[in-house]
Amino acid sequence: MRDRRAMAGVIGVVAFGALACGYFLGRSDERAGRPLSLVSPAHASERPDLSPVEARDGDFYAPNSEELGPEEMRLIACGTGMPTARPKQAASCWLLELGNGDKFIFDVGTGSNERIAALQIPYNYLDKVFLSHLHTDHFGDLDALFISGALGGRQKPLRVWGPAGDTPERGTKSALDHLYKALTWDLDGRKGITDPRGYKLEVNEFDYKGMNEVVYQENGVTIRSFPAIHALDGPVSFVVEWKGMKFVFGGDTYPNKWYAKYAKGADVAIHECFIAVPDMIDKFRFTPQGALAVGTQIHTAPEAFGKMMSVIQPRMAIAYHFFNDFDTTPAINQRIRTTYDGPLSLSVDYMVWNISKDDIRVRMARVDDDVWPPPATEKPQVPDPSLRIPYSEMIAAGRYDMKSVLQPTYDEINEQYGLDEKQE
Ligand SMILES: [Zn+2]
Ligand SMILES: [Zn+2]
Repeated sequence: MRDRRAMAGVIGVVAFGALACGYFLGRSDERAGRPLSLVSPAHASERPDLSPVEARDGDFYAPNSEELGPEEMRLIACGTGMPTARPKQAASCWLLELGNGDKFIFDVGTGSNERIAALQIPYNYLDKVFLSHLHTDHFGDLDALFISGALGGRQKPLRVWGPAGDTPERGTKSALDHLYKALTWDLDGRKGITDPRGYKLEVNEFDYKGMNEVVYQENGVTIRSFPAIHALDGPVSFVVEWKGMKFVFGGDTYPNKWYAKYAKGADVAIHECFIAVPDMIDKFRFTPQGALAVGTQIHTAPEAFGKMMSVIQPRMAIAYHFFNDFDTTPAINQRIRTTYDGPLSLSVDYMVWNISKDDIRVRMARVDDDVWPPPATEKPQVPDPSLRIPYSEMIAAGRYDMKSVLQPTYDEINEQYGLDEKQE
């Protein structure tokens, strides 16, 4: 088992070496039967299959451009960073797509909603979110996904799974009930104007002490949870089992024995890996005492991440929850490598993993900054205007008279679509 995995890691390194030399590598299924040879760019023009005018496949993932095999998983990092915001890395968010069409979002940390949007997936397929815990860097964009997803074409409730707390107020249900109430003005203002079906939250709360217990089972997919050790009682990690493959998403935690047990032998294992303590002091301006406490006790230090991966031996270990920069990542890598020598991804936003039983391909996604919402999968429901909550007389009376300015737009649209819409 170990040999095969070590080999996969070596192949990965060879593949990246080949890419660096400008040698074309096609999709993984084509690549499997093809000998890898390293051709330097200087000799590339001598290759008969390289045309000066024909397109070649890119070695990046372009959203909405590739089919997923029936036994294949695609994992996309939509947030790999920290609670402190930065343009390069949103906070924790992972999209897992399965070849059966199912899609699951694990955490939806602050800033991650725009990463999800960039993947151009119709929102009706983005209706299942699993929360590891209730720190904002793990669920801070849930409100954004809830509202913008409904507006973007999710015509069904957003389903959320998350842990109960040690008291009812600290649980996912309480948090989301209050979040929904906080959105009262937003939701009321959309009544009678938009398709109402997406503006509902379905909350599935489960016991955070459950030991690898099933929290979801539909369509051949089983998702289990087990506890994590972080800040307070309540955080959890998740295991997804599908078609004989195992994907593990670890939320924030001090290294724990349940992860060591239940993540063992995972095909892909995500686990947090914090910034090295010296860089927390130098770059993050922590006191040495604070850096040691946060960087090794509340979270998982890089050397402890490596130790955990040595114990569970995944086909691919994924580290996240650190600022992935040219001057901090070498120290993280070095410390991980004191305790772990297997396949490793030091993640950054938009990293993509295609996972099948015999291959794991790692690339970056190239996204379109000018993205618009994808088409809805079902016909939009025309809202009932009688549900609109009217302005007060005082506010309504403040309308500047634009009727003659706007009437041509009404005429244009009524004629084009055969309607008889009138200004208010
Ligand atoms: Zn946390
Ligand atoms: Zn966190």
